[in-house]
Order: sequence, then C-alpha cells, then structure tokens
Amino acid sequence: MTYSLDHQDIRDGIAKLSQDFGGEYWQDCDKQDAYPAAFVDRLTAEGYLAALIPEAYGGLGLPLSAGGAILEEIHRSGGNAAACHAQMYTMGTLLRHGSEEQKRSWLPQIASGALRLQAFGVTEPTSGTDTSALKTTARKQGDHYIINGQKLWTSRAAQSDLMILLARTSPVPEGGKKTDGLSVFLVDMRDVLDKSLTIRPVSTMMNHSTTQVFFDDMPVPAANLIGEEGKGFRYILSGMNAERMLIAAECIGDAKWFIQQARNYGCEREVFGRPIAQNQGIQFPLARAYSSMRSAELMLQKAYQLYEQGHNPGEEANLSKLQAADASWQAAEACLQTFGGFGFATEYNVERKYRETRLYQVAPVSTNLILSYIAEHVLKMPRSY
Ligand SMILES: Cc1cc2nc3c(=O)[nH]c(=O)nc-3n(C[C@H](O)[C@H](O)[C@H](O)COP(=O)(O)OP(=O)(O)OC[C@H]3O[C@@H](n4cnc5c(N)ncnc54)[C@H](O)[C@@H]3O)c2cc1C
Repeated sequence: MTYSLDHQDIRDGIAKLSQDFGGEYWQDCDKQDAYPAAFVDRLTAEGYLAALIPEAYGGLGLPLSAGGAILEEIHRSGGNAAACHAQMYTMGTLLRHGSEEQKRSWLPQIASGALRLQAFGVTEPTSGTDTSALKTTARKQGDHYIINGQKLWTSRAAQSDLMILLARTSPVPEGGKKTDGLSVFLVDMRDVLDKSLTIRPVSTMMNHSTTQVFFDDMPVPAANLIGEEGKGFRYILSGMNAERMLIAAECIGDAKWFIQQARNYGCEREVFGRPIAQNQGIQFPLARAYSSMRSAELMLQKAYQLYEQGHNPGEEANLSKLQAADASWQAAEACLQTFGGFGFATEYNVERKYRETRLYQVAPVSTNLILSYIAEHVLKMPRSY
C-alpha cells in the first residue's frame, strides 16, 4: 500500500499516538468492557476531536476528509474510533442548525475537551430503521420542554456530558408526513443524570459502551432546541452523508489492518515447509479484499471531493459506506482464515477486530437501507417502505 493519500501529516500523527495504545490496551478494554478513556483523553488533548469545529469556535477548522483520515488511521493502527467518532458527526447538527448563541456557548467547550458531545439519542426499542415511528415526546412547558420516553443503543451516553436528542414535539399531522413534528435538542445530561435521566448499560458482542436511556419528565431548557421546532428529522438527515463517509473511513482502516496482518502472518507462517502466503488459496481472498478496499477508497475520495465543494453527495456517500463495510468484512474473513486457529486467540486481536467490524453492516445504518437508497434515489425505482 504505497499510494499517497490526503492529510499525511494527520495520518502520521495518529499512527504515532496509536503506538502508545497497542493491541494489549484494546484487549484489556475489551475484556473489561471498559471505555478507552486514556485513548480518548489523548486524542482530545492533541486536538484531533476538534478537527471539524471551525477555528472561530476554538477548533481546527479542517475539512471532512481530515476527520476521515483521523478515524481511518485509528482503525488501520488496530484501534477502534467508536469510542469517540460521534463527536465528529453529531457536532455537525449543532454546527449547521444551531443558533449563533448556541454555537458560542457550546462549541468552544467541546473543542477544548471541557465537555464531551458523544451521545446521539435517536433509536428506540420499537424504532430503529423507521426513525419517524419514535415515541419519545417533548412537551413545551413555560421556558422548558419536558421529555418522556426511552432510547436504545445510545452509545457513550455514560461517558458524555451532552446528547443530541430527537423527540416528537407534535403528533403526525392529519394527512401529513410522519417525519414532521420531530425536534432536536441539545441535552446537558449533567443537570438531570440520576434524577429524571437514567442510563443503563447494554452488553454487546464487542466493547461499545452502548446504553439504554430513560427520560422521566426530564426538563430541557427551551433555549436548547436546535433550529425550528418540528423540523428535527431533516436536521438529522442532513448529517447522514457526512456520517456515512466517516464510517466508510473507519471500515477502510479496518480493511487495511486485516490485510496487513494477514499478509505479514501468511509470509511468516510455514506449513508443509513453506510460507502459507505462497498458496494462492491464501493470496486470492486477500487480493480480492484489497481490490474491494481500494474501490471503496476511491469512491470515498470522490464523495469527499463533492462534499468539500459544497455538494450533498448522497449517491457517493452511500456507495462508499456500502463498499467500505463490505470490504472490511471481506478482509476480516480472509484474515481470520489466514490465521487459522491462531485467529481465534485473543492475543492476535484478529477476533476482536472481526467482532468490531461486523457492526458496520447494521449500524449506524444497515446495508439494506443503503441499498434501498440506491434503488429509490439513484435507480428511481418505487420506494419500498
Ligand atoms: C452497537 C450499536 C450501537 C448503536 N449506536 C447508536 C447510537 O449511538 N445512537 C442511535 O440512535 N442508534 C444507535 N444504534 C442503532 C442503530 O442505528 C440501529 O440498530 C439500526 O438503525 C437498525 O435499527 P434496528 O436495530 O432497530 O433494526 P430494525 O429496524 O428492527 O431492522 C432489522 C433488520 O431489518 C431490516 N429492515 C428493516 N426495514 C427494512 C426495509 N424496509 N427493507 C429492507 N430491510 C429492512 C434492517 O435493515 C435490519 O437488517 C446502535 C446499534 C448498535 C447495534
């Protein structure tokens, strides 16, 4: 992998930082189901999590592709950016749709690391893919909204100070769209935790710090409503392309890690008196995974280019996420197979990364929904749901 990519200085910086957080660090976090706090603190201290915040609000003011380079390199180095990636895309909702006052009061604190905005409360037990069916309500009462309901899979809620929350402020209008009447709030969880807000961890097949959260008459100042009441769904939707591109970057990082590990192991491991990498049965799946990864990477570069020119590249963002998630899974399979029995031993990190990269076929958006997008919006076939 000798071709050159954008933001090489950022990639080098993350690769260097990651040397202090090797496989054993991630294995320990995984075994203890622990949040990789030291890693996230270091990224924050070195300014990486403020990459996409404009300089006027204390951030680095870098383009989306720089955020992608950070996330990709974390994954290529064997780590997992799931502990902090949401700060890059949830913050976009505040950036694009928040008032000047909101941005001035929150963004500098997020940029400095004084506050974490890592939680994104959209999914509920009965509404995942169909976001518009969500049941959490926000009722206006004086200068506050009162929130009631439940969210599921709210990752990093326990490690975050702030949460971007989507709730219903008015019922679906007669004959109107199901997506109308939803609103976005910036919730300062420090004020309400263990009073009207309860967070319970959800154990998963990989270490992900995900939770379910319960709102019981939780007050949120009306000043924390982002944008206009009732238009929240389109605000969340407007951040989806950036989210897809950043997740694609993580998948590409994973694919590179798997391919590199398998290549190295295959060249060293001798069976029948010669390296297993000499067998085409070992080479070809890795060469295919590399081919898929490179195609995904090219699509992602195209998506970044359009996005940074001010377009909203729905097709390219969705395709890059689809291709990258497939490439990382293909590479994970080929890597595990190359390692044989040793792939199942925790010390090689292959089984950990294998579990981690599987998520991207389902969350933050499932493969089926991306295919539906392509079918409906690109191929102009009838909507299926
Ligand atoms: C570890 C983890 C972390 C997460 N973190 C967050 C988070 O921080 N914040 C948050 O809000 N959410 C989060 N999620 C939720 C995630 O976004 C949802 O799991 C995802 O959107 C799918 O929703 P669901 O699980 O309810 O599946 P469902 O909606 O029940 O769907 C189940 C399956 O049916 C398929 N399906 C449904 N409808 C159709 C259709 N019309 N056509 C074809 N296939 C269809 C889906 O693609 C999926 O494969 C997380 C999930 C996980 C597992």
